[in-house]
Amino acid sequence: MRVDTAEARKLFRSGDVLVAHAVFVSGRLRSPPARAVFDVLELFAFARPAQPCVPSPLGIARALGLDIAQDAESYARALVDCAGLLLEELAALSEEAKLKLRALAASLGKAGWRWGPPVLAAIGEPEPSNNPIRGFEAWRAMREWEDSAAPDKPSSHPVEASEATARLRLLVGDYHEARPEQGAYAEAATYAFGPREAEGSPRIALIEAGTGTGKTLAYLAPASVWAEKNGPGLWLSTYTRNLQRQIMQEIARLYPDPVERNEKAVVRKGRENYLCLLNFEESVKRNALAPGQRSVALGLAARWVTATTDGDVSGAGFPAFLAASMPLREITDRRGECIYSACPHYRTCFIEKAVRRARHAPIVVANHALVIAQATADWMASEETNDTPPERRTRYVFDEGHHLFDAADSGFAMLISGKEMAELRRWIRGPERGARSRMKGLSERIRDLIDDDDTAREALDEAVAAAAALAADGWLNRASQGGAFGAGEAFLASAYAHVRARTDDADTFYNMEAGVEAPGEDLLAASRELGHALHAIAQPLGRLAKALRKYIADGAEDMEPSTKARIDAAARGVERRAKIIIPTWMQMLDAFETGTVNDNFVDWFEIAREDGRDADVGLERHWVDPTIPLAEDVLLRSHGAVITSATLRDAPNDADDWASAEVRTGALHLPEPPRRASFGSPFTYAEQARILIIKDVNRRDIDQVASAYRELFLGAGGGALGLFTAVRTLRAVEQRIALPLSEAGINLYAQHVDRLDTGALVDLFRAEENACLLGTDALRDGVDVPGRSLRLVVFDKVPWPKPTILHKARRARFGKSYDDLLTRLRLKQAFGRLIRSREDKGVFVILEPATPSRLLSAFPPDAPVLRCGLAEAIAEIRAFLAS
Ligand code: SF4
Repeated sequence: MRVDTAEARKLFRSGDVLVAHAVFVSGRLRSPPARAVFDVLELFAFARPAQPCVPSPLGIARALGLDIAQDAESYARALVDCAGLLLEELAALSEEAKLKLRALAASLGKAGWRWGPPVLAAIGEPEPSNNPIRGFEAWRAMREWEDSAAPDKPSSHPVEASEATARLRLLVGDYHEARPEQGAYAEAATYAFGPREAEGSPRIALIEAGTGTGKTLAYLAPASVWAEKNGPGLWLSTYTRNLQRQIMQEIARLYPDPVERNEKAVVRKGRENYLCLLNFEESVKRNALAPGQRSVALGLAARWVTATTDGDVSGAGFPAFLAASMPLREITDRRGECIYSACPHYRTCFIEKAVRRARHAPIVVANHALVIAQATADWMASEETNDTPPERRTRYVFDEGHHLFDAADSGFAMLISGKEMAELRRWIRGPERGARSRMKGLSERIRDLIDDDDTAREALDEAVAAAAALAADGWLNRASQGGAFGAGEAFLASAYAHVRARTDDADTFYNMEAGVEAPGEDLLAASRELGHALHAIAQPLGRLAKALRKYIADGAEDMEPSTKARIDAAARGVERRAKIIIPTWMQMLDAFETGTVNDNFVDWFEIAREDGRDADVGLERHWVDPTIPLAEDVLLRSHGAVITSATLRDAPNDADDWASAEVRTGALHLPEPPRRASFGSPFTYAEQARILIIKDVNRRDIDQVASAYRELFLGAGGGALGLFTAVRTLRAVEQRIALPLSEAGINLYAQHVDRLDTGALVDLFRAEENACLLGTDALRDGVDVPGRSLRLVVFDKVPWPKPTILHKARRARFGKSYDDLLTRLRLKQAFGRLIRSREDKGVFVILEPATPSRLLSAFPPDAPVLRCGLAEAIAEIRAFLAS
């Protein structure tokens, strides 16, 4: 039965409907349900915990092995079939398995889960119990990790080219000859795995390889040989999670046995990605008793905890849709609250397990942000304890190497802001004024350790008292509307006024910024006050850190390992703040007051905005060239690295121009020039692609822009990705085209509109052949959709860099052509989404008539470019995709 939107809303509000992803449906209908609905995704998460599933009817059907047509009626029928299948699966479980599930199903039923009664009918009722959270206590059934000796030091056996190519043949399989470019790539990458000949002189290979070269297997070949001969110490780093997953899939060819694979290769993410069992336990005890969606989400998360192998809430097996009812920061360690060995779950902690596994695994798959963050952590470890760093990183492969510049830009940036100050204050003083948080202040964390030490106790008390000068909870209102309290908030209030005074568009949707030049006397005075206040915090923290180190040194022989680990963790935390964070802030304030910002940096004041609302205020500092610290702290400390991408250079494949690649990767700052190699794509773009520049759409008229998107998408029959440089334009277009596309049977998904994370949106888009997706920067090069699901990319305009203070400084450093370079690389990355295999065909459209010809070198030289009107473009798309 087909119903109109009003009827659909009524049915949805009644709760007596089957849906997939209730939150998404609620957003689409612009109507919350009056009572919980039967969400088949929830049933899937209960019946098949930790199994990946695209959050849609089609996704669930495919996860259950059903082959269904891609139309609305089939999706509706599939929901009924899938629910029936899942309930049958539960009914068919062994008695032992059913017994384990009954308590949770009953608790979920009491919390209002609509599937409670049918699930209990399938698995049976539990014994009566007085425990109101029974079944939620997943932390009780966890396996402990075991400590083992430190891993061997990496050795320096070379990898021969013949070994790399032999390994490549093994990886590509008996039935497939390695492509010639792939073999040549593997040989070129071997250079980075030879023995380093001089300290501070790593062997760096810059390798550009067009889409379709098969570069992942090509670098895995020499890298895995190196790891087997010398490891651990090999880190494969990506920018996107999607590529991490792909690399793990490729590694499965090398280690088909899951047990062996588990030992040999580990995905390592930042700690905020893992479930914290203590936070989870506390959230269950606080929230599970109250019926409602949060309680249901916690129960389904508990089911996932019992099945997950790694506790990774950003991984494919976590039911990400739960995040809409249960903020993930509540169940992860995102606020630095970990109490390490003092935690009752320390021996079963997912994070501790991940760190230990990574320490011993020959191959670690990580991301650029973590590698850069670890570089600072290593420095602290070796500086303070003279210990070896906890995880060895001798050789790297940086895939998606074109993102290294941006990853370094964020990783080495410094910020003194309201949020940062409030975080530091909480870390030192703990929650104040009745704030609900488990986070303990410094006193509570270490008081028992320093009870006998007068110097340490005095230092601690002094630091706690001095931290009252920092911004406290609720600072944003006071800084923006008056009533600032203490040196920290006074500085923020002056910074806020400074930015507002110098901003032209005070109602802008985006961040507002203002330079540090010619500040008013109020701001200067507030900065000086804050500098004094920070000094008063750093001094006692420094004394406290020394006392903690002395405590470890004096009692090293008799101390329990867990106590030592606890003090060590506390000392590291105090040192990081006393020696890095606070001194950097003081130095930034001093440079601002004296007008002496080092040429390597650019500083500015900023009001950060989220969805058009103020979110943070502060003084920012970025490196003009962030590849300087990247080279110093990461590349120069390694013995070798492959830096690779399909878009490393701003030059055609056959040109020998590596200047842009060296600027963007840090190779420019190395003593030895890197080895370079480039391999063209095997695709025939003349036959597979078209590039159209539309001449007759007025970009200032949003109705015209939206109509152009609608007609282009309809012309392609869906399978289109719309890219935008501004969120506001994206939303305006989405509002205008969602309905007409839907009437044509085309689903439209949109970043910044649908309440789904980017990964889930891409999964939905990929799963359907005729869906369309709208997005901004993250989708420009984070989408890997081979086949017909992506056959059209439409850019609303040329993606020039935003004219920010930081960009101005970089343009001054790298030259006027810097804008062109960035823009060409962005176009190149976006175009790279389109053709992912020899069978793909696709059209790339730019809706900007004034697209300069000099930017067109971003595209493969054999891809035909046509400047034409919209009507001609639509006809061309139809004809080309049908041919
Ligand atoms: S050790 Fe830390 S991260 Fe692990 S469960 Fe305990 S508090 Fe959470």
